[in-house]
Amino acid sequence: MTTTARKLLTVALLGAALTACGSDPATAPHQTAGKAAPSAPPGAGAPKTAIAATLAPGPGGLTPVFERAARNPQGEKVVALSFDADMTADQGPRAAGGERFDNPALIADLKRLKVPATVFMTGRWAQEYPAEARAIGTDPAFEVGNHSYSHYAFKTDCYGLPVVEKDAMRADVEKATAQFKAAGVTNTVPYFRFPGGCYDDETLRALAPLKMTAVQWDVVSGDAFAKDANAVAEQVLAGVKPGSLVVMHCTRSAAPVTDTALQRIVPELRKRGYRFVKVSDLIRSTVQNPQH
Ligand SMILES: [Zn+2]
Repeated sequence: MTTTARKLLTVALLGAALTACGSDPATAPHQTAGKAAPSAPPGAGAPKTAIAATLAPGPGGLTPVFERAARNPQGEKVVALSFDADMTADQGPRAAGGERFDNPALIADLKRLKVPATVFMTGRWAQEYPAEARAIGTDPAFEVGNHSYSHYAFKTDCYGLPVVEKDAMRADVEKATAQFKAAGVTNTVPYFRFPGGCYDDETLRALAPLKMTAVQWDVVSGDAFAKDANAVAEQVLAGVKPGSLVVMHCTRSAAPVTDTALQRIVPELRKRGYRFVKVSDLIRSTVQNPQH
C-alpha cells in the first residue's frame, strides 16, 4: 500500500469524511486506450474556442482512459498539473460550519506563476463556490473537467466513499455539468476524473454515452492530507517525466500544503526545462502522435 493510500485508509478508519483523491494508479485497474482520434470533424470551420481533443473509445466502446502522454517526437518536456476541487455531496454542513473546501490562494499563485492548469471540479464544489468556479471557469489559463457532482465512488471499495449506483452514474456526472453551467463556467472540457481514481469496465461502460475521456494520472503528488510541503514537492519532482500528468488538489480542507509545495515544484521543473501545459494539450499531442 502506498503512503497516500495508507493515509487515506487511516482517515477513513477515523471516520472522517473522505474528500481527496490521489490513489496510486498501480493499485487501480487500467484500461488505457491504445488508439486516439480527434473528436472534431475536419473542416468544420474555425470554432470560437478550440475544441479539446478526446481519445477514441476503448475496446467495445468503453470510455477511454488517459494517464499521461508519451515523450513527443520533438523531445519537448511538458508536464500537466491537475487539481481536484473536491467537495462531497454530504459536506454542506461542514462548509456551513466554516470548513473551507476551496483554495483561492492556490489559484492566485498559479496565475502569478503563469502556470496553466486543469481543474477537475465536483458539482457540489461549484454549487458552494459559484463565484470562484466562474472565475476559474472563464479564465483562459484554466480548463475545467468534471469530477462528478457528489464525489461518491464510481466503484465499490474506494477508500470508504459512499458508492453511486451504476444506473445513477451518468446523472451524477450530468448534475455536475449543470452546476458548472449555473455558475457560469464556460471553459469546460469533456474529461472526467473518477472520485478516488476508482473505476472498472462496468463503470467505463456506464459512462460511455457521455463520450468523455476519463483522466487518471501517472504522478501522485501525495498532497492529500499532507502536512509537509517539501515531501509533496520531492514526490512530484521525483515522479515527473516528459508528458507526465500530476494529480493535486484545490481544497484547503484536505490538501493544506499544496500551494506551498507549488512554490518549489514550479521553478524547479522550469529549471529542468519543463513547460507547463493543460491536460487537453497532453491529449492533443497523444492524438497527433498515435504511434506512441
Ligand atoms: Zn477527488
